[in-house]
Order: sequence, then C-alpha cells, then structure tokens
Amino acid sequence: MAHILITGGAGFIGSHLCERYLALGDRVTAVDNFVTGSADNIKHLLKEKAFELIEHDVSNPFTPAMESDFGKVDFVLHFACPASPIDFEKIPLEILKVDSLGSFHTLEVAKKHKARYLIASTSEIYGDPLVHPQTEDYWGNVNTTGKRSCYDETKRFAEACATVYRAKYGVNTGIVRIFNTYGPRMRLSDGRVVPNFCGQALRNEPITVYGTGTQTRSFCYVDDLVAGIMKLVASDCADPVNIGNPDEYTMLEFAKFVIEAVPGTTSKIEYRPLLHTDDPKQRKPDITRAKKVLAWSPKVSLADGIGKTLEYFRSKL
Ligand code: NAD
Ligand code: UDP
Repeated sequence: MAHILITGGAGFIGSHLCERYLALGDRVTAVDNFVTGSADNIKHLLKEKAFELIEHDVSNPFTPAMESDFGKVDFVLHFACPASPIDFEKIPLEILKVDSLGSFHTLEVAKKHKARYLIASTSEIYGDPLVHPQTEDYWGNVNTTGKRSCYDETKRFAEACATVYRAKYGVNTGIVRIFNTYGPRMRLSDGRVVPNFCGQALRNEPITVYGTGTQTRSFCYVDDLVAGIMKLVASDCADPVNIGNPDEYTMLEFAKFVIEAVPGTTSKIEYRPLLHTDDPKQRKPDITRAKKVLAWSPKVSLADGIGKTLEYFRSKL
C-alpha cells in the first residue's frame, strides 16, 4: 500500500486521481483549500479509511502537525491550481502563489520523504504555439504580460522548480503537460468551453462561440488523462510528457458536435468577441513520447466522453 499526497484533491482532476488510487488499495491524503474545488467531488471518499482530507492552502508551508499527520509519503502529486481562464482574471495572485510557493512547499515534502514527485503542468506553457502539433521540445510562445501570464508563466516556473530540485537534491521529479481535459466533476460555471457549450445546450440557451470559432483545441476525457498520469507517476521519467487526445476540432465544429449530442435542444450558435487577444489559435498534443515511454494513448472517443459528461451536467442542473 503506497501513500499518495494529492494537492488539489477536491478538484476536477484531483478527485478522480484520489478515487483511482483508493480503488487500487493505496492510501490517499488530499490537500485542498476549496478555492475552486468542491466537497461534493470527494464526499463519497470521506467514508474510506484509507482517505484523509486536509484543508490547507498549499501556498503556505505545511505545519509540523500536518506533516506528522501524513506520516510517510511515497508520492507527491501537486495538482492544486485554479485552471479556468475566468480564474486568470478573478484570482491571479492565488494562481501565481500556488504554482510558485506551493511548488516549493510540496517539493520540500518530496525531498524529505524521498518520494516521487509530479507537477501538473499544462499545454498553456506552449502559449499561442508556432509549432503544431506541440512536441515537448518546443519552448513555447507565451506573452509574459498578457491576460493568461499568471497561469502560463507560473506553470513554467513550476517546471523549473521541479527541474532544480532534481538536479540539486536528487528528487525524483516528473512533469505532466496536460492538454484540455473534460468529464464529470467539471464545474458547470467555470467558463471553459466544455461546460459552457454543454450547459447552454441542455438549457436551450445560445451556444457562445468566441471570435471566429476557427481556433482549435483537442479534448481528452478525464479517465484517459488519469490513466496516463498514473503511468507517469509509476515511471521514473524526468522529462516532461504531454498527455492529451490529439483529435483536434475548431470551436465551431465542437459547438455543432455538442448541439447534435443533445437531441431536441433549441440552442443555436451565437458569435461573441474573444475574451482576450492571447487566446491560442491552435492546440494539439504530439503524444509520441507518452506512447513510447508510458505505452499510453487515449481510448475514449469524443462522442462517448461528451455523452458521459452531459449525463453528469444533467444531474447538476
Ligand atoms: P480544479 O480547479 O477543478 O482543481 C484545482 C483544485 O486545487 C481545486 O480543488 C482547488 O480548490 C485546489 N486549490 C487551488 N489552489 C489551492 C491552494 N492554494 N491550496 C490548496 N488547494 C488549492 O482544476 P483542474 O482542472 O482539476 O486542474 C487540476 C490541475 O491540472 C491544475 O494544476 C491545472 O493547472 C492542471 N491542468 C488542468 C487542465 C484541464 O484541462 N483541466 C489542463 C492543464 C492543466
Ligand atoms: N470558447 C468559446 N466559447 C465559450 C468558452 C470558450 O468559444 O463559451 C473558446 C475559447 O475562446 C478558446 C476555446 O474555446 O478558444 C477553449 O477555451 P477554454 O476556456 O475551455 O480553455 P483554454 O484552452 O483556452 O484554456
């Protein structure tokens, strides 16, 4: 039985990770301050003996009492961070802190316990990419003073922290670059395109396509993502690894896809201005490394994944 410390454990991706490790018989400690997470995401786990929740802001150091509570830790997964573009405007300071100070605090735990460490990085480190699809050796095109910089730059910083802790202290660090992921437990109100379009179609409201709708994204179902992350955790891979689904759609195609997935909806597409000019025009992961190093590739089709996600959102409306 391994002990896994997961920051952001009450969030969308974090709660799925907690659930999967518990199902394997591992012990899980989730750390969360609920800034964007929800008690609903983990309430079914609270009755499990092997699960513990610590309410704490990881931008602050862990107290000695908390550390003695954890006991021995084998894996540290730093997933705490608001991830929606609307959070970039609402809580930018919290974002800057959690992936900088929070990375130090969680890396210190990994160092102390000689634990394998994984930082949740993102495709956003590639910015508005000039290389397509994005390979891990592409350095990116980020506007350091743009509307998304609090997120993009702090994730780049977090990757640098992990790299330095490996070089200087020998911490067994890994870096997962997560591409747009969707599925049950996303917040309907978080402003990202999947909950927006699904919620709008279910409520018979206009489907809000920003800009021309020609910008592209590639959507990965959360179960596929979690399977890839767990393989990366179990490996000793130090290099960054893209985890995502390379099936690429324009936002206009995706809007039409969601309308078709909700039979009877009266929703029609409506164009709105882009929220800001730094909206990446294209995004698609090159997953050659994940295939080679982890023997991982996504399995869930967009039709199946969106079907399950719509079912979840229906239950929340
Ligand atoms: P989320 O907002 O659902 O989850 C983040 C969790 O972290 C929440 O429960 C939140 O309350 C918690 N948190 C935030 N700041 C904290 C702090 N200072 N202390 C303690 N807890 C804190 O978002 P998500 O989509 O599940 O994202 C999880 C991770 O994956 C993030 O690091 C995010 O940057 C990364 N990521 C997600 C995506 C995606 O498509 N969802 C893409 C790329 C990267
Ligand atoms: N988008 C859209 N309508 C919406 C929400 C988002 O057209 O209601 C677009 C947004 O402009 C972006 C893409 O969908 O080009 C993905 O946005 P999201 O916020 O989900 O994540 P991002 O990949 O930009 O971080």
